[in-house]
Amino acid sequence: MCTRFAPSPTGLLHLGHAFSALTAWDMAQAAGGTFLLRIEDIDTARARPEFEAAIFEDLAWLGLDWPRPVMRQSDRMPAYRGALTRLAALGVVYPCSCSRADIRAALAAPQERAEPARDGPDGPVYPGTCRGRGMATRTPGDALRLDMVRALARLGDGTDTHHAAETGAAEIARHRLDPDALTDRCGDIVLARRDIATSYHLSVVVDDAAQGITHVVRGRDLLAATPIHILLQALLELPHPSYHHHVLIRDEAGRRLAKRDDARALRLWRESGESPADLRRHLGLPPLAA
Ligand code: GLU
Repeated sequence: MCTRFAPSPTGLLHLGHAFSALTAWDMAQAAGGTFLLRIEDIDTARARPEFEAAIFEDLAWLGLDWPRPVMRQSDRMPAYRGALTRLAALGVVYPCSCSRADIRAALAAPQERAEPARDGPDGPVYPGTCRGRGMATRTPGDALRLDMVRALARLGDGTDTHHAAETGAAEIARHRLDPDALTDRCGDIVLARRDIATSYHLSVVVDDAAQGITHVVRGRDLLAATPIHILLQALLELPHPSYHHHVLIRDEAGRRLAKRDDARALRLWRESGESPADLRRHLGLPPLAA
């Protein structure tokens, strides 16, 4: 059993992060497994070394320990490139030059589609403007997107449509995926951003496999991303970990904690003289076995 806590060093950890890390840690302890820390710093414009240092300090204060050196996603670009090459070879990737404003405009335009535009795990579901562009048309400023319909078809043999649909359906069922939810609610998600040659979804899938993660423990805010990750694992022939989505820690007004919500930073809790045991109690977690 191997699990991980995978924060992005773009702010101070808050109580929600502490809950997530402790939940993963407790599961690993109970199973005699391994707890890993992974630094998800692909967003180089927002990641800061001081936040990374604060993550190490805060987690150590909580009583957690992990093998070092830790995996840092900014060191993993060649692995992400390799995965993109494999996906492109399956014919399920296309370049996209749309800006956020282009996407908003396309979604606002009058159209025949009866369905209103939906929000997916990464914002509005992409309307498909660049779908069908070949990889040969890629220019340096383009993002890369997953063609969701083709990706699902690809889980069949990808050639004869009738046969593909049949074997594809069996494969899709085997991975417990809901094709309608993936096409309508996720759509053609970004695999490589315009500014960074990867994305959250691609990196997390490649790294969970590289680290041999068997149990992904994370908040329910990421529930909608999990079918995308399972699909990418199937396409890349990677093992599927099991997923545990824990409840989210909210403030008194019932709002989700956000990193910029400084008042709830773990750091301030620490500095106010509370102990990790107090914090566990506050979060409703059992005390650590002596
Ligand atoms: N890096 C992500 C975050 O900080 C978590 C990724 C994951 O657990 O899959 O929200």
